[in-house]
Amino acid sequence: MPTTTPPSRTSIRTYKGIGVSPGIAIGRAVIVERLEAAVYRVPIRDDEVPSEVNRFLEAIEKTQSQLLDLKQKVKRSMGDEYASIFEAHAMMVSDPSFADKVVQKIEAEQVNAEWALAEVQEELQARFRSFDDVYLRERVADVKDVADRVQKNLQGVSHHDVSEITHDVIIIADDLTPSDTIHFNRRPIVGFATEAGGRTSHTSIIAKSLFMPAVIGVPRLTKIVDDDEMVILDGYEGLVLVNPTQAMIAEYQSRVIRHEEAERRLLENRDLVALTKDDRRITLQANIELVEELKDAIRFGAEGIGLYRSEFLYISKSPLLPNEEEHFQLYRALAEATAPQWCVIRTFDLGGRKLAKEVIGSKENNPVLGLRGLRLCMKHRDMFRTQLRALLRASAFGKIKIMFPVVTSVQELRQVKTLVRELRAELDAEGIAHNPELPIGIMIEVPSAAIIADILATEADFFAIGTNDLIQYSLAIDRSNENVSYLYEPLHPALLRLLKMIIDAGHKANIPVSLCGEMGSDPLFAIVLLGLGLEIFSMNPSSIPVIKNIVRSVRYRDCKRIAEVALTKKTAQEIEEFVIESVAMRFPEGLINKTP
Ligand code: PEP
Ligand code: MG
Repeated sequence: MPTTTPPSRTSIRTYKGIGVSPGIAIGRAVIVERLEAAVYRVPIRDDEVPSEVNRFLEAIEKTQSQLLDLKQKVKRSMGDEYASIFEAHAMMVSDPSFADKVVQKIEAEQVNAEWALAEVQEELQARFRSFDDVYLRERVADVKDVADRVQKNLQGVSHHDVSEITHDVIIIADDLTPSDTIHFNRRPIVGFATEAGGRTSHTSIIAKSLFMPAVIGVPRLTKIVDDDEMVILDGYEGLVLVNPTQAMIAEYQSRVIRHEEAERRLLENRDLVALTKDDRRITLQANIELVEELKDAIRFGAEGIGLYRSEFLYISKSPLLPNEEEHFQLYRALAEATAPQWCVIRTFDLGGRKLAKEVIGSKENNPVLGLRGLRLCMKHRDMFRTQLRALLRASAFGKIKIMFPVVTSVQELRQVKTLVRELRAELDAEGIAHNPELPIGIMIEVPSAAIIADILATEADFFAIGTNDLIQYSLAIDRSNENVSYLYEPLHPALLRLLKMIIDAGHKANIPVSLCGEMGSDPLFAIVLLGLGLEIFSMNPSSIPVIKNIVRSVRYRDCKRIAEVALTKKTAQEIEEFVIESVAMRFPEGLINKTP
């Protein structure tokens, strides 16, 4: 029987995943085990209490020494100002109002340390959140950070901090949340690869926004790569190359230069309009999550913002909630920067995997089918009112449109419009300006909404098709689950039919229909969408030049024919083969190549 020798840790190894954010990164691996075990309430016996208290005190001691260590390292690399944060955290760990409380809870309730800690953490966070003083309120983030560290030490999960590293690093993680990822926007982190994830997960979307090469869905990655191994991350092909030779590194470095040249060439179309060869005018807008991306939207020639994912304001402030003034300032700045174009602001789409627990304290077994999108906004009415008031106020300063996520029925749309009317009356009574004509639109991203698009079109001012969720819900595939990511098929006949229904219904009712899912930024899919009649695309800013190049190279007439025939095919594979063949026959060579 043939035997297989496991590859030595020093040999060259190549692992294949899914490239979700293009680009090439070269650096040393830093392994991050992020998944935490769930915290259960485990009753303990009388005689187990002292050892449980001891276990907790050991975790406290370990946390303290990690924090003091970190303080020294940060002091050396970044100076006193940053180091003092860790000193303050070390003090907080030993503060009696924290540690003693946990010990008391273990003793009084005879429960495990993890549970007691989680309970005290909740109580402290709630207390800090309720302070009037802004400074004190903001300390809630420190409480969370410190308690999380202790919890990780209790659970034996390693705790990494990359802030003190000076060379380029590639994060190798089991899983990363969108909020982890938004903190990756500076050196030394140059890329990441994870075991979990999906093509259209928000972690992948954020990676693209940050221009950070990323590969997801590589099984057991944290177990097969060692800390500090050299890694090349190929976000175009979805490859993680460990221990590459010098020659491979040199080859990838020259690929980086080739890609940069190709991108520069594409950017030459920045000021040209997106017009097909037979003069159909297409609008290309930007999706943004962070205000800093506005400059990218402008740089890549976006005609306005088609989707601002406002939940990222909550994520970046978590565990604090943004107040009305913070919302208002941000939306006003967005509207002013986008003028004279439109800026579509989507109300917070928290829930699913996006910080539902941290922001609103909800824990659900099946969060993707739980409280998310508009239903969550309506449930947390105070939070929602704060955001809506700010949006209405900001509408006096630019061309803002409001959009609601995860709408499933006309009833929901009517309810939220009633709320907006109430808030308008409130602002009028207070003499505060707002745009009385502010357009109100909805995301069409649930099959029920797609099927009744003709009815919804009579009550909404515009539609934005969210294919990331529409695919998730119509094909029953969790968009963040690597086990089903092979079923992500934007050309599935069911999806094409839904898309056609939505686009036709919107146009028949004379309202604008845009598409802001990831599907729209893929050259092949964009051709089909053009053929289905889509006129407004909104996407990650860096994809705009590629799609503009497609639009300017094709005839609408041809795309329409391709879409018509595609709609008669029976499987996603048949449709894809047919579209690829047609593109090769009708359009310029190399048009849909993703990499130069
Ligand atoms: C979508 O679902 O396609 C969409 C654009 O919204 P999000 O990715 O934020 O869910
Ligand atoms: Mg969505």
